[in-house]
Amino acid sequence: MNRILSSVVFARRIFRKEAEHPRGLFEGLKAYRTQDGNIVLFRPEENALRMRAGAERMCMAAPTVEQFLEAVKEIVLANERWIPPTGKGSLYIRPLLMGSGSVLGIAPAPEYTFLIYASPVGNYFKEGLAPINLVIETDFHRASPGGTGGVKTIGNYAAVLKAHTAAKAQGYSDVLYLDCVHKKYLEEVSSCNVFVVKDNVISTPAIKGTILPGITRKSIIDIACSLGFEVVEQLVPVDQLLSADEVFCTGTAVVVSPVGSITHKGKRTSFGDGKVGRVAQQLHTALTRLQMGIAEDNMDWIVKLK
Ligand code: PMP
Repeated sequence: MNRILSSVVFARRIFRKEAEHPRGLFEGLKAYRTQDGNIVLFRPEENALRMRAGAERMCMAAPTVEQFLEAVKEIVLANERWIPPTGKGSLYIRPLLMGSGSVLGIAPAPEYTFLIYASPVGNYFKEGLAPINLVIETDFHRASPGGTGGVKTIGNYAAVLKAHTAAKAQGYSDVLYLDCVHKKYLEEVSSCNVFVVKDNVISTPAIKGTILPGITRKSIIDIACSLGFEVVEQLVPVDQLLSADEVFCTGTAVVVSPVGSITHKGKRTSFGDGKVGRVAQQLHTALTRLQMGIAEDNMDWIVKLK
């Protein structure tokens, strides 16, 4: 039997004896309080579709888009009091899909448990909207061609937790991963996609199965194009990154985060004299104005809950 569970703020443990298939997917989206008192979600259908695409890749049954959206709306409205005031944070929503079924062997998961956690959050990086410091990882990889790097499966994050933890202990904000074949093309950061700016042209690694197709990435590409920037999705080698005018990351949690320095093989390259880059600032402003209900939603990305 499929189960859709909603949990109130913060996790609680659940045990299910049917959950014998060791696989899981999750999503991340946010509910915002707009300046005129609405509660809104940003492109939640994209999260539902990404979870369904992930489930297809992982041979798992999954809720329909409608069931996903209904459960998310229910959890947000039930936890409305936890949504911070406009500009002070958001309610982070983490839908979790676990495959289940009564077969012990390796087989598709015909049943599932779908659970949603929600928690109020502020800035992801302690820096806030200030440059972060990344380190390029050369020993660990988060994905390989033909693998599951392009879907939001739990294992992708477990695989690189060691590198991430070591980088944090050394004072870095996060880790930037390279492709595991040539070990020279950018992939992504632990929780976000990466963009490189040179002479007003914005480049970002193309989606080719090893990086997560970020919803913020896609939105920022559209916003940048509408602001008149040229955006190129391609292979981005480390050399191009290190000679960039500006580097920034995008994600639901990190929003648009400027990168102040990148350390590669022990050598640190700095960007922007410790200041937020011009392009990152422009894109951050455009995106957050939309999410806070200040800018007009011309793209139809905002779903109003009340
Ligand atoms: N890459 C990874 C590995 C992530 O975990 C995330 C966060 N979901 C992203 C990129 C950004 O995706 P989104 O913009 O959809 O949050």
